[in-house]
Amino acid sequence: MTKYIFVTGGVTSSLGKGIISASLAKLLQSRGYRVTIQKFDPYINIDPGTLNPYEHGECYVTEDGAETDLDLGHYERFLNTPTSKANNITTGRIYQNVINKEREGAFLGKTVQVVPHITDEIKRNFRILGESGDYDIVITELGGTVGDIESLPYIEAVRQFRWEIGSGNSLVIHLTLVPFLAAAGELKTKPTQHSVKMLLEYGIQPDILVCRTEHHLNMDIRKKIALFCNVNINAVIESIDASTIYDVPLLMLKEQLDKTVLTKLKLSHKNEPSLENWKDFLGRLKNPTADVRIALVGKYVELPDAYKSITEAFIHAGAAKECKVRVEYIPSESLTPGNAVEKLKGLHGVLVAPGFGERGFEGKIEAIRYVRENNIPFFGICLGMQCAVVEFGRNVLGLENANSTEMNPDTRHPVIGMMEDQKTITNKGGTMRLGAYACELKKNSKAAAIYGKTSISERHRHRYEFNNNYLKQYETAGLIPSGINPENNLVEIVELKNHPFFVGSQFHPELKSTVANPHPLFINFVAASLAYARKK
Ligand code: GLN
Repeated sequence: MTKYIFVTGGVTSSLGKGIISASLAKLLQSRGYRVTIQKFDPYINIDPGTLNPYEHGECYVTEDGAETDLDLGHYERFLNTPTSKANNITTGRIYQNVINKEREGAFLGKTVQVVPHITDEIKRNFRILGESGDYDIVITELGGTVGDIESLPYIEAVRQFRWEIGSGNSLVIHLTLVPFLAAAGELKTKPTQHSVKMLLEYGIQPDILVCRTEHHLNMDIRKKIALFCNVNINAVIESIDASTIYDVPLLMLKEQLDKTVLTKLKLSHKNEPSLENWKDFLGRLKNPTADVRIALVGKYVELPDAYKSITEAFIHAGAAKECKVRVEYIPSESLTPGNAVEKLKGLHGVLVAPGFGERGFEGKIEAIRYVRENNIPFFGICLGMQCAVVEFGRNVLGLENANSTEMNPDTRHPVIGMMEDQKTITNKGGTMRLGAYACELKKNSKAAAIYGKTSISERHRHRYEFNNNYLKQYETAGLIPSGINPENNLVEIVELKNHPFFVGSQFHPELKSTVANPHPLFINFVAASLAYARKK
């Protein structure tokens, strides 16, 4: 039978529930258990696809085309197993399901209420992955902080669920903060006590407390927390600030979080976790032999979370090359023809980021012209690739005012345009080209050499595409469409001939980079930037 672990948060948000969940999952996985993590978010959007990145960070896309919370990216990067639509549920989705059932007449005669109808639907979703038979353990991370109005139905659903599946089959891990008061020179346990008290009011006794802290918890503090919060002393887990999120699994191992969990779930400890590859990755990450400066040109750079998967993919690729990648964020709006050279001076590579809308578009074009003409490694992702196509059209092919129809619907040279089947769609949510698509790489292309094969699959999230009417012109002039979708002939990658590294991908390679499998495009881009840095 599948065992269930719930992870709740107290005191404040941003304590790192996602990383704790992913780290615990990693430890359990490396002991031989089949584990997955799902995230329940208490907002009313059906999914985060329609949220501004400033509001919620990056929108992570799964193989099956779900637009999800960025924590799912952490789950995949840690576990190296794909997540799916079922791994991210929002209050909006829960209500939508219940309301659809109501319209179908499923509750005929009944008043539809939060308890039991919404809580039943939440519980049904808790179980979906567990009932697939694919997992021994399902970790459910509850978004938000205990005490929020929005979280209440979830907490109530957890209470009922635990009672229904019986003791030993589930546990609740509560993540709290143990702040350090500099003036008193002390760690304070009161916020943790209050947060647990609040959970108790809702009928939930947490089994394990993970205490986020800037200083080590000594025995006295641990005893105090244990006594006041009714948990065993070995269930008070210290989660000290770490220099990288990838340290957290090892920190949790040291605190024996995995053992405590397995004992409480009445599961065998099996083998000691085999984390050799993980430690090897950390060793390379922490002992770089070189340094490279890469610009990330984008419109949401004030909030680095908006580009989470890209920055993590750089960390994986940097470790693979034993090289410290310093990502320097450059707001695309700040780039003009006059200052692009100045702003990009001294950088060893430029990545132009994905994005939507006109703001900052022309700045990206300037950055690309500069790196194309000066043989500086360039990597364009999604909108970044589209910008490269527009730049090449304008400045090499001489297509005056060439553009994407996203930026100018009336351009004379729509080198990037919307696909026919997108034109009739009026809804915004979940209507882009989403999820994994196959791509065939041209033999002898740089892309094929990088991947080491010609059939690949990558994830997408966009509405606009390369306009194939211009394909011949581009190819003749040296911007090669090196990857094509075999089903609909859409251009998925372009690369520039006679340039050390100039690659644009319509897909998002960053979504598939993991600790175990750093993405080859990122590795090669970092290598090219490193080579450029050494030449200088
Ligand atoms: N706005 C562009 C499109 O919809 C690019 C999207 C992206 O960068 N993810 O096609």
